[in-house]
Amino acid sequence: MSALTARDLIATFARLAERLAAARDELCRLDGQIGDGDHGLAMSEGFAAAAQSTGALPADTATLAEVFNAAAKALLNAVGASSGPLYATALMRAGKAAGARRAMPLQETPQLIAAMAEGIRARGQAALGEKTMVDAWEPAARAGAEGAARPLADIFEAIRKAAEAGAQSTRSMLATKGRAARLGERAVGHLDPGAVSAAMVIDVLITDWLRLAGE
Ligand code: ADP
Ligand code: MG
Repeated sequence: MSALTARDLIATFARLAERLAAARDELCRLDGQIGDGDHGLAMSEGFAAAAQSTGALPADTATLAEVFNAAAKALLNAVGASSGPLYATALMRAGKAAGARRAMPLQETPQLIAAMAEGIRARGQAALGEKTMVDAWEPAARAGAEGAARPLADIFEAIRKAAEAGAQSTRSMLATKGRAARLGERAVGHLDPGAVSAAMVIDVLITDWLRLAGE
């Protein structure tokens, strides 16, 4: 049975940092339309800090929980914007779900998506349809929980697609949480930057897990 090891997870944080660095300008542009224009900086700097801090852990002896917790702490310290504490809580919840073990069965990784979604919901108190990152995380978590008997690759693809569709669905929404809530109708027609970056984070996770599954 394929597994996700702490070493794999550390490598994933490096890829998350690369992906969010590449997306920095696009995410700032999206946040400039309905927020304060810093979301690309927050995500790229936050995940760069997470990659650096997890990269310094001993990959052969660290537990999955230690990797997630190191990433959470680094992100919280590096990011002043709302996405910092939201992702810090998400990663701590993932650490709790993964536990103090050096590897977990790949079959259980959809539970990490669910734990992150729940952390973001608990921390930000936003519900589905409020034009936030919850609109990508929540559908992804649900897609991962449905039909556990399906082949793992199908579940992974369903998670990825649900996150992407969720991010796109924010375009037509009014915002009722976060900075964009002040804009009323003017936020309609713009994608939520946090939902777009959430779909990117989920895409990186799923791409790595599919590779580990040998797909
Ligand atoms: P800030 O709004 O402090 O500048 P960022 O620009 O980093 O923070 O992140 C903005 C994103 O945070 C929004 O696009 C939205 O997806 C997300 N967000 C804001 N408030 C909440 C909340 N209460 N719950 C969930 N997500 C939220
Ligand atoms: Mg912002």
